[in-house]
Amino acid sequence: MILISLKTAERNLRHFTVNGLHYYTFETLDRYGVCHAIFTRKGGVSPPPWASLNVGGTVGDDMERVRENRKRTFEALGLSSQRAYDVWQVHSAEVLCVDAPRAPDQIPQKADALLTNKRNVHLFMRFADCVPILLFDRARGVIGIVHAGWQGTINRIAEKAVYKMEKEYGSAAEDIWAGIGPSVGAHHYPVGEEIWESACSLIPEVVQQSFGVHQGKYWFDLWTANKLLLEGAGVGEVEVAGICTACNLEEWYSHRAEYGKTGRFGVVISL
Ligand SMILES: [Zn+2]
Repeated sequence: MILISLKTAERNLRHFTVNGLHYYTFETLDRYGVCHAIFTRKGGVSPPPWASLNVGGTVGDDMERVRENRKRTFEALGLSSQRAYDVWQVHSAEVLCVDAPRAPDQIPQKADALLTNKRNVHLFMRFADCVPILLFDRARGVIGIVHAGWQGTINRIAEKAVYKMEKEYGSAAEDIWAGIGPSVGAHHYPVGEEIWESACSLIPEVVQQSFGVHQGKYWFDLWTANKLLLEGAGVGEVEVAGICTACNLEEWYSHRAEYGKTGRFGVVISL
Protein backbone atom coordinates (compact mmCIF):
# COMPACT_ATOMS: atom_id res chain seq x y z
CA MET A 1 0.00 0.00 0.00
CA ILE A 2 1.40 3.36 -1.03
CA LEU A 3 0.22 6.73 0.15
CA ILE A 4 0.35 8.68 -3.08
CA SER A 5 -0.85 12.10 -2.09
CA LEU A 6 -2.02 14.04 0.88
CA LYS A 7 -3.52 17.48 0.59
CA THR A 8 -5.85 19.64 2.56
CA ALA A 9 -9.32 19.56 1.07
CA GLU A 10 -11.90 21.33 3.17
CA ARG A 11 -10.65 23.12 6.23
CA ASN A 12 -11.44 20.25 8.58
CA LEU A 13 -10.93 17.35 6.18
CA ARG A 14 -7.89 15.62 4.75
CA HIS A 15 -7.82 13.89 1.39
CA PHE A 16 -5.89 10.67 0.71
CA THR A 17 -5.24 8.59 -2.40
CA VAL A 18 -4.27 4.95 -1.86
CA ASN A 19 -4.10 2.41 -4.70
CA GLY A 20 -6.34 4.65 -6.81
CA LEU A 21 -8.97 4.94 -4.09
CA HIS A 22 -9.75 8.44 -2.84
CA TYR A 23 -10.99 9.07 0.65
CA TYR A 24 -11.38 11.80 3.23
CA THR A 25 -10.79 11.90 6.96
CA PHE A 26 -11.68 14.41 9.66
CA GLU A 27 -8.48 16.03 10.84
CA THR A 28 -9.75 16.13 14.43
CA LEU A 29 -10.47 12.40 14.45
CA ASP A 30 -7.02 11.73 12.97
CA ARG A 31 -5.53 13.73 15.83
CA TYR A 32 -7.45 11.55 18.29
CA GLY A 33 -5.89 8.53 16.57
CA VAL A 34 -9.18 7.00 15.42
CA CYS A 35 -8.93 5.07 12.16
CA HIS A 36 -11.72 6.18 9.82
CA ALA A 37 -12.40 7.06 6.20
CA ILE A 38 -15.14 8.44 4.02
CA PHE A 39 -14.58 6.83 0.63
CA THR A 40 -15.43 8.57 -2.62
CA ARG A 41 -16.68 6.64 -5.67
CA LYS A 42 -13.19 6.51 -7.21
CA GLY A 43 -10.94 3.48 -7.52
CA GLY A 44 -13.36 0.57 -7.89
CA VAL A 45 -14.34 -1.94 -10.58
CA SER A 46 -18.02 -1.17 -11.21
CA PRO A 47 -19.20 0.31 -14.54
CA PRO A 48 -21.75 3.16 -14.86
CA PRO A 49 -24.15 3.96 -13.30
CA TRP A 50 -22.29 2.55 -10.28
CA ALA A 51 -18.82 3.69 -11.35
CA SER A 52 -16.76 2.76 -9.69
CA LEU A 53 -16.24 1.97 -5.98
CA ASN A 54 -19.83 0.93 -5.27
CA VAL A 55 -20.22 -0.96 -1.98
CA GLY A 56 -24.02 -1.15 -2.10
CA GLY A 57 -25.40 -4.64 -2.66
CA THR A 58 -29.01 -3.63 -3.34
CA VAL A 59 -28.60 -1.17 -6.21
CA GLY A 60 -28.45 -3.59 -9.16
CA ASP A 61 -24.67 -3.88 -9.36
CA ASP A 62 -23.05 -7.31 -9.69
CA MET A 63 -22.23 -8.83 -6.27
CA GLU A 64 -18.76 -9.98 -7.37
CA ARG A 65 -17.86 -6.37 -8.14
CA VAL A 66 -19.38 -5.13 -4.90
CA ARG A 67 -17.28 -7.67 -2.96
CA GLU A 68 -14.14 -6.59 -4.78
CA ASN A 69 -14.88 -2.91 -4.10
CA ARG A 70 -15.51 -3.65 -0.44
CA LYS A 71 -12.23 -5.58 -0.23
CA ARG A 72 -10.32 -2.67 -1.81
CA THR A 73 -11.96 -0.26 0.60
CA PHE A 74 -10.69 -2.07 3.69
CA GLU A 75 -7.31 -2.83 2.13
CA ALA A 76 -6.73 0.87 1.50
CA LEU A 77 -6.85 1.39 5.27
CA GLY A 78 -4.74 -1.68 6.02
CA LEU A 79 -7.79 -3.36 7.59
CA SER A 80 -9.32 -6.79 7.05
CA SER A 81 -12.84 -6.80 5.65
CA GLN A 82 -13.38 -9.95 7.76
CA ARG A 83 -13.38 -7.69 10.84
CA ALA A 84 -16.20 -5.46 9.61
CA TYR A 85 -19.66 -5.03 11.09
CA ASP A 86 -22.38 -3.74 8.79
CA VAL A 87 -26.16 -3.67 8.91
CA TRP A 88 -29.23 -3.58 6.71
CA GLN A 89 -29.84 0.19 6.61
CA VAL A 90 -33.58 0.81 6.64
CA HIS A 91 -33.95 4.53 7.56
CA SER A 92 -34.92 3.57 11.10
CA ALA A 93 -33.88 5.17 14.39
CA GLU A 94 -32.45 1.87 15.63
CA VAL A 95 -29.05 2.06 17.38
CA LEU A 96 -27.05 -1.15 17.72
CA CYS A 97 -24.17 -1.86 20.11
CA VAL A 98 -21.60 -4.17 18.59
CA ASP A 99 -18.91 -6.29 20.28
CA ALA A 100 -17.54 -8.39 17.42
CA PRO A 101 -17.34 -8.41 13.62
CA ARG A 102 -20.32 -9.73 11.71
CA ALA A 103 -19.73 -13.37 10.73
CA PRO A 104 -20.21 -14.10 7.00
CA ASP A 105 -23.20 -16.37 7.76
CA GLN A 106 -24.83 -13.85 10.12
CA ILE A 107 -27.70 -12.01 8.39
CA PRO A 108 -27.28 -8.22 8.67
CA GLN A 109 -29.57 -6.73 11.31
CA LYS A 110 -31.84 -3.79 10.55
CA ALA A 111 -30.37 -0.66 12.12
CA ASP A 112 -29.08 2.79 11.20
CA ALA A 113 -26.55 3.52 13.90
CA LEU A 114 -23.68 1.40 15.22
CA LEU A 115 -21.61 1.81 18.38
CA THR A 116 -18.67 -0.09 19.81
CA ASN A 117 -15.94 0.25 22.42
CA LYS A 118 -14.07 -2.77 21.12
CA ARG A 119 -10.83 -2.48 19.21
CA ASN A 120 -10.48 -3.95 15.73
CA VAL A 121 -14.22 -4.06 14.95
CA HIS A 122 -14.64 -1.97 11.83
CA LEU A 123 -18.03 -0.26 11.75
CA PHE A 124 -19.12 0.10 8.13
CA MET A 125 -22.03 1.88 6.42
CA ARG A 126 -23.10 2.92 2.93
CA PHE A 127 -24.32 6.30 1.69
CA ALA A 128 -25.59 8.25 -1.31
CA ASP A 129 -26.98 11.59 -0.01
CA CYS A 130 -28.01 10.49 3.49
CA VAL A 131 -25.87 11.97 6.25
CA PRO A 132 -22.95 9.97 7.67
CA ILE A 133 -22.31 11.01 11.26
CA LEU A 134 -19.15 9.80 12.97
CA LEU A 135 -19.00 9.78 16.77
CA PHE A 136 -16.12 9.47 19.19
CA ASP A 137 -16.12 9.64 22.98
CA ARG A 138 -12.53 10.52 23.76
CA ALA A 139 -12.90 9.77 27.49
CA ARG A 140 -14.44 6.31 27.25
CA GLY A 141 -13.05 5.23 23.90
CA VAL A 142 -16.38 4.62 22.17
CA ILE A 143 -16.94 5.09 18.44
CA GLY A 144 -20.09 5.24 16.40
CA ILE A 145 -21.52 5.78 12.95
CA VAL A 146 -25.00 7.00 12.09
CA HIS A 147 -26.98 6.91 8.82
CA ALA A 148 -29.40 9.83 8.82
CA GLY A 149 -31.58 10.63 5.84
CA TRP A 150 -34.70 12.75 6.32
CA GLN A 151 -36.42 9.93 8.18
CA GLY A 152 -33.57 9.20 10.54
CA THR A 153 -33.05 12.91 11.08
CA ILE A 154 -36.65 13.69 12.06
CA ASN A 155 -36.79 10.51 14.14
CA ARG A 156 -33.79 11.90 16.05
CA ILE A 157 -31.38 9.04 15.38
CA ALA A 158 -28.30 11.21 16.02
CA GLU A 159 -29.59 12.14 19.46
CA LYS A 160 -30.61 8.53 20.17
CA ALA A 161 -27.09 7.36 19.36
CA VAL A 162 -25.69 9.84 21.91
CA TYR A 163 -28.18 8.73 24.57
CA LYS A 164 -27.23 5.11 23.89
CA MET A 165 -23.54 5.97 24.37
CA GLU A 166 -24.42 7.49 27.74
CA LYS A 167 -26.60 4.57 28.81
CA GLU A 168 -24.53 1.64 27.54
CA TYR A 169 -20.98 2.94 27.88
CA GLY A 170 -21.23 5.62 30.54
CA SER A 171 -20.27 8.36 28.11
CA ALA A 172 -20.69 12.00 29.03
CA ALA A 173 -22.10 13.93 26.08
CA GLU A 174 -19.59 16.76 26.48
CA ASP A 175 -16.75 14.28 25.83
CA ILE A 176 -18.24 13.28 22.48
CA TRP A 177 -16.97 14.62 19.18
CA ALA A 178 -19.25 14.34 16.12
CA GLY A 179 -18.44 14.77 12.45
CA ILE A 180 -21.13 15.29 9.81
CA GLY A 181 -19.81 13.92 6.53
CA PRO A 182 -20.48 14.55 2.83
CA SER A 183 -24.19 14.31 2.03
CA VAL A 184 -26.88 16.20 0.17
CA GLY A 185 -26.90 19.95 0.81
CA ALA A 186 -30.09 21.88 1.51
CA HIS A 187 -29.86 23.67 -1.87
CA HIS A 188 -30.20 20.22 -3.51
CA TYR A 189 -32.82 18.85 -1.17
CA PRO A 190 -36.36 20.10 -1.71
CA VAL A 191 -38.92 17.99 0.14
CA GLY A 192 -42.71 17.87 0.27
CA GLU A 193 -44.91 19.67 2.72
CA GLU A 194 -45.69 16.41 4.54
CA ILE A 195 -42.01 16.02 5.50
CA TRP A 196 -41.91 19.58 6.77
CA GLU A 197 -45.07 18.91 8.79
CA SER A 198 -43.56 15.74 10.30
CA ALA A 199 -40.44 17.71 11.16
CA CYS A 200 -42.58 20.36 12.85
CA SER A 201 -43.99 17.74 15.20
CA LEU A 202 -40.89 15.54 15.67
CA ILE A 203 -38.00 18.03 15.76
CA PRO A 204 -39.86 21.26 16.66
CA GLU A 205 -36.88 22.90 18.35
CA VAL A 206 -34.69 22.78 15.23
CA VAL A 207 -37.20 22.96 12.38
CA GLN A 208 -37.01 26.74 12.07
CA GLN A 209 -33.25 26.69 11.48
CA SER A 210 -33.18 23.62 9.25
CA PHE A 211 -35.85 24.38 6.65
CA GLY A 212 -35.99 27.09 4.05
CA VAL A 213 -39.07 27.91 1.96
CA HIS A 214 -38.34 28.94 -1.61
CA GLN A 215 -40.35 28.69 -4.84
CA GLY A 216 -43.16 27.02 -2.94
CA LYS A 217 -40.90 24.19 -1.80
CA TYR A 218 -39.35 23.19 1.50
CA TRP A 219 -35.57 22.85 1.43
CA PHE A 220 -34.34 20.57 4.20
CA ASP A 221 -30.90 21.30 5.66
CA LEU A 222 -29.97 17.90 7.08
CA TRP A 223 -26.54 19.16 8.20
CA THR A 224 -27.96 21.89 10.40
CA ALA A 225 -30.78 19.71 11.76
CA ASN A 226 -28.37 16.97 12.84
CA LYS A 227 -25.83 19.45 14.18
CA LEU A 228 -28.50 21.12 16.34
CA LEU A 229 -29.87 17.78 17.52
CA LEU A 230 -26.37 16.65 18.55
CA GLU A 231 -25.69 19.95 20.30
CA GLY A 232 -29.09 19.71 21.97
CA ALA A 233 -28.06 16.31 23.33
CA GLY A 234 -25.01 18.01 24.86
CA VAL A 235 -22.33 16.83 22.39
CA GLY A 236 -19.15 18.79 23.05
CA GLU A 237 -18.01 19.40 19.50
CA VAL A 238 -19.78 19.03 16.15
CA GLU A 239 -17.96 19.48 12.84
CA VAL A 240 -19.64 19.72 9.46
CA ALA A 241 -17.70 18.69 6.34
CA GLY A 242 -19.89 20.95 4.21
CA ILE A 243 -19.52 18.84 1.06
CA CYS A 244 -22.66 18.31 -1.01
CA THR A 245 -22.82 14.93 -2.73
CA ALA A 246 -25.27 16.18 -5.38
CA CYS A 247 -22.92 19.04 -6.32
CA ASN A 248 -19.90 16.78 -6.78
CA LEU A 249 -20.92 13.73 -8.78
CA GLU A 250 -17.35 13.00 -9.94
CA GLU A 251 -16.51 12.18 -6.30
CA TRP A 252 -19.78 11.08 -4.69
CA TYR A 253 -22.86 9.03 -5.36
CA SER A 254 -26.08 11.04 -5.13
CA HIS A 255 -29.44 9.32 -5.05
CA ARG A 256 -31.19 12.62 -5.79
CA ALA A 257 -28.95 13.99 -8.51
CA GLU A 258 -28.66 10.63 -10.30
CA TYR A 259 -32.37 9.83 -10.08
CA GLY A 260 -31.86 6.70 -8.01
CA LYS A 261 -29.56 5.05 -10.58
CA THR A 262 -26.30 5.10 -8.68
CA GLY A 263 -24.12 3.29 -6.16
CA ARG A 264 -23.22 3.70 -2.49
CA PHE A 265 -19.96 4.95 -1.01
CA GLY A 266 -18.51 3.39 2.12
CA VAL A 267 -17.67 4.95 5.48
CA VAL A 268 -15.50 3.10 7.98
CA ILE A 269 -14.55 3.81 11.60
CA SER A 270 -12.50 1.58 13.88
CA LEU A 271 -10.68 1.79 17.20
ZN1 LIG B 1 -25.47 20.56 -3.84
